[in-house]
Amino acid sequence: MILFKKITDLRNWLESQRKNGKSIGFVPTMGALHPGHLSLIETSLNKAAVTVCSIFVNPTQFNDPADFSKYPVTIESDIELLEAAGTMALFLPDVKEIYPNGGPASKKYDLGYLETVLDGSSRPGHFQGVCTVVERLLEIVEPDHLMLGQKDYQQCLVITRLLELMGDTGKRIQIHICPTLREKSGLAMSSRNMRLNMADREKAALIHQCLLQIRNELEAGKLNNIKQKITAILISQGFRPDYVELANARNLTLTEVWDGKEELVALIAAFLSEVRLIDNMLIQKATE
Ligand code: AMP
Repeated sequence: MILFKKITDLRNWLESQRKNGKSIGFVPTMGALHPGHLSLIETSLNKAAVTVCSIFVNPTQFNDPADFSKYPVTIESDIELLEAAGTMALFLPDVKEIYPNGGPASKKYDLGYLETVLDGSSRPGHFQGVCTVVERLLEIVEPDHLMLGQKDYQQCLVITRLLELMGDTGKRIQIHICPTLREKSGLAMSSRNMRLNMADREKAALIHQCLLQIRNELEAGKLNNIKQKITAILISQGFRPDYVELANARNLTLTEVWDGKEELVALIAAFLSEVRLIDNMLIQKATE
């Protein structure tokens, strides 16, 4: 695996790959890698001739400075994992390389409704920060294939919107949404899990159990009861729920009354010992 810190070096190398007719797969990450990230690398290896991973903890997407300063960094083991997984190139820029003018341009992305709900409203500015860094990375790497995790469901929709906003450059990029990898307990793998102690890590599996319970108990009609019931379960177990929601799976319009057919996604965000955890589950149409 070749490690690039400078944009020019990476771009020169990518250019030579493209000249040899190689397609480029790209897996952007913030490091502290786990098997969930590696499953994206594996998808990329299947889709593209060359797989590039980036590790960049983007300061502009953290609305909470404490969350940024506590974000885990495990670069040495990340490099080993990526190499073993067959990644051809790692882009590991520093902040100055990504934001040479001291900060991102004050461009505003029109994300519409998507930015007003769920993580959009709970984490002001977060998705603008995500778009800033992802656009920058995409302009640098110019991938043919972009791997994203369903774990960050709303982010997948935001980045799909970003590609629309990027016009022809965006149209050339194919997004692949990869399933969420979980611990045996059902807990969605996440770099933030490293900040949980052993007891909380076990407890955190409740979020997945709650999503399963929503899926099992969901009935056509008003959805308020199930949302309240799950919120109460989380609170009783020491979580501080941010939201328990059901939304249209395509556009995230929150669903209050369900016709039993609309494809839904159940989404939970909850704090456990000051660590914010998110997870989601698709709820397929009832088959008759
Ligand atoms: P992050 O490093 O958290 O920014 O994540 C980088 C990419 O990995 C994003 O597209 C995430 O959605 C994806 N990802 C994170 N956790 C998982 C997981 N448990 N399973 C699959 N993909 C994941």
